[in-house]
Amino acid sequence: MTAVPLASGAHVASIGRDPRAAGPALGRSDDVAHAVARPVVDGLDSAVCGQLVTVTAAEDWGTSQAPTRCAECARIAG
Ligand SMILES: [Zn+2]
Repeated sequence: MTAVPLASGAHVASIGRDPRAAGPALGRSDDVAHAVARPVVDGLDSAVCGQLVTVTAAEDWGTSQAPTRCAECARIAG
């Protein structure tokens, strides 16, 4: 676990009371990050773009530091 919380990105989550609970979770397919609608559990799930990805429920799409983000997920989930 090398994740370090980012201070930025808080403006992205504006629809929920708790950004961590309201924002999509982070899914990965190869080296690409995808957004996965909550609630999720760790494992395989469909990202908002429709792709099957490996989900990490403890990570948030909005604060992810993944170097590559799925363009379709970014368009849907912001
Ligand atoms: Zn995607």
